[in-house]
Amino acid sequence: MPLYDYQCQACGHRFETLTRAGSTPVCPRCNSMALDKQISAPVAPGKSKAIIAANRAKAARGGHLSNYSKPEQKKPLR
Ligand SMILES: [Zn+2]
Repeated sequence: MPLYDYQCQACGHRFETLTRAGSTPVCPRCNSMALDKQISAPVAPGKSKAIIAANRAKAARGGHLSNYSKPEQKKPLR
């Protein structure tokens, strides 16, 4: 049974739930059925660009910080 991430369109609450075929999950916070379904893994293609950009920004910041800390330079950037 697949585990899905959902984000509630009504209140923005994000949660994971197991879903059976034919069942409709509801938001545990507000009981709304207006949910965006997001497969936990792998990352959805449409979102990967944003995530890659965010990771690059994070890596750039890490690289910048590593200029100040020699031990940090030996750690791989993630
Ligand atoms: Zn909700």
